[in-house]
Amino acid sequence: REAERFLASAARQKHLNAFISLPDISALLRQVQDAEDTGDKDSLNGKLIAIKDNICTSDLPTTAASGILKSFTSPYDATVVQQLRAAGGVIAGKTNMDEFGMGSHSTRSIFGEVCQETRSDRRVSAGGSSGGSAVAVARHNCWAALGTDTGGSVRLPAAYTGTIGFKPSYGLISRWGVIAYANSLDTVGIFARGAHDAQTVFNALNVHDPRDPTSLPPSTRSRIASVLAKRPLEWPPSKPSPPPGLVGPMPPLRIGVPIEYNIAELQPEVRAAWMQTLRILADNGHSIHQVSLPTTRHALSAYYVLAPAEASSNLAKYDGVRYGSRAPGSDASPETKSVLFAKTRGEGFGDEVKRRILLGAYTLSADAIDNYFIKAQKVRRLVQQDFDRVFALPNPLLDDQPANGENKKVDLLICPTAPTLPPTLKSLEGQSPVDAYINDVFTVPASLAGLPAVSFPVECVVDGVAIKVGIQAIGQYGDDHLVLNVASHCG
Ligand code: GLN
Repeated sequence: REAERFLASAARQKHLNAFISLPDISALLRQVQDAEDTGDKDSLNGKLIAIKDNICTSDLPTTAASGILKSFTSPYDATVVQQLRAAGGVIAGKTNMDEFGMGSHSTRSIFGEVCQETRSDRRVSAGGSSGGSAVAVARHNCWAALGTDTGGSVRLPAAYTGTIGFKPSYGLISRWGVIAYANSLDTVGIFARGAHDAQTVFNALNVHDPRDPTSLPPSTRSRIASVLAKRPLEWPPSKPSPPPGLVGPMPPLRIGVPIEYNIAELQPEVRAAWMQTLRILADNGHSIHQVSLPTTRHALSAYYVLAPAEASSNLAKYDGVRYGSRAPGSDASPETKSVLFAKTRGEGFGDEVKRRILLGAYTLSADAIDNYFIKAQKVRRLVQQDFDRVFALPNPLLDDQPANGENKKVDLLICPTAPTLPPTLKSLEGQSPVDAYINDVFTVPASLAGLPAVSFPVECVVDGVAIKVGIQAIGQYGDDHLVLNVASHCG
């Protein structure tokens, strides 16, 4: 049985450290059996789905890989977990990650680093922060997995592990019960081995949740649908349009290639895979167009101001009194309480989390806010406007958009997910924080603009050796099915 095979491979691959906690195996097999026996042919029936450990589950701990939450079990399931269970999915375990989602290699976890291979000389980064979910899917420990993507944490690990990593448009999937890192950017994302499977999971989660104030209400969802329906794409008579929400044939598309992504630091293998993807698309009748997104070069700096600022506020609640683990001491008086807070937070948070809290507290402080936080918000708006200028589809969230379908505009963008192939864990030792931040250069622009983006593996032969490289498709807000569809054609 599929579930037993998955679990056996998870047990064999413990050394990869993809999971923080696993359910009781016999209880899990019973759940799979029950789901299959109901006879209800729900799309996720009996499918094993792993969950990143910053998404709340009532039956397994939720630690966000942090010392401060190491003994925390949520009293409830996150909405996304409820939705998966309701569709027949079975939770395969909680996956390892960078603490609170802060990192790019899944090495910053109190449970130890995740890796992909253990030939002792080649322990390779799984990407981060959702590295455990990516490895669990790549190594067939489960059928699909959920991660979270704030600035690339689903797409980067997908690129490094040769899986599909999909970050939907911000607001489509509920964040209720998802531990906040930077809530204006946090998006639940999906890992799968094929775009069709990612689509199936997405369809189960793409629903308004009244408990999440940033979840898109039905009125906005229908507005998106009507903007999409008016799009003047020309379907050839031999290729009928697929039913909405399914991957299928595509009409000829205008594909944009952002010149700013062709940076000098791009590894030759990555550039080769990018070119190969464009060739495949051109051979299949799509047209390729150069576009310019001039604010891209400021996006990374803006992200690393905004994300820590939001984090410093979101993480203030972990003080040992309201949440999480607590250092010894009394909270009886204001003096002892502040000692207790400082001790709890000093012991509970890892170095990277502390760095982000300090950075965020600084950029929000009265003296610095104008020069940092406010400027970064302006850059964020410019990044959004860059995207709106190149996409033919008008942004369905904005009112006064010019008529779409202009010749110079494109339907989606194709670029690399990361500038390099996965580094070895050894090469990361002693790496400066800024070097790690640079990994996110191609993923943060879509995060700042809230756009749907998917990383898909493209096989490419370099010096006679076949390797898989992550390539990214980015679409206009709400164009989630199109980016998944393109991934299914190229990946
Ligand atoms: N690497 C980025 C960061 O550390 C992205 C993390 C994420 O998307 N959760 O902030």
